[in-house]
Amino acid sequence: MDERLRKKEEQNWLKCWIANDTTRKVLAQLADLGFKAFYNHIRQDIHAKHGILETTTCISCTDLSKQCLLCSEIGNQIWYHHRFKQAPVKGPSWRNTNITKWCTDSWELAKCYMPPTGYKDKASAGETDFNGIIGAIYNCTWMQKYFTDDLSQQNTNICTKVILTYV
Ligand SMILES: [Zn+2]
Repeated sequence: MDERLRKKEEQNWLKCWIANDTTRKVLAQLADLGFKAFYNHIRQDIHAKHGILETTTCISCTDLSKQCLLCSEIGNQIWYHHRFKQAPVKGPSWRNTNITKWCTDSWELAKCYMPPTGYKDKASAGETDFNGIIGAIYNCTWMQKYFTDDLSQQNTNICTKVILTYV
């Protein structure tokens, strides 16, 4: 064993790091599957409301203020499901996301729920750090379905506890 890992304190630190990394991996898998399901949910809703088939995709809209009906509806849904959509300085982190990939990569939806800086280039759950993943899960109200805890109880739910512990 490495000399530095013989001491109890260092072993505890390492265990902490492994626990943290293991938790991140599990949450990354949940977020990956969750946002794929979220995208499918959005597309079913848009189909029901506007008759746009789930197989229809758009890769040409680049500007939030000038979008086709499909992209603007996806944007509306992202906004609608944001836990802090009414807060003046919060709401979706639009600068993180590549709008042209909304129909082909559900992780671009997840990025709208992460902190506003540092996540633009994170192409998958595996590349995203703990703070980004927990933010995506907590800030998207649709993810509530994967928790028994009531995530709307801001001070006592499992996600805010994790955020306060790890971040
Ligand atoms: Zn479009």
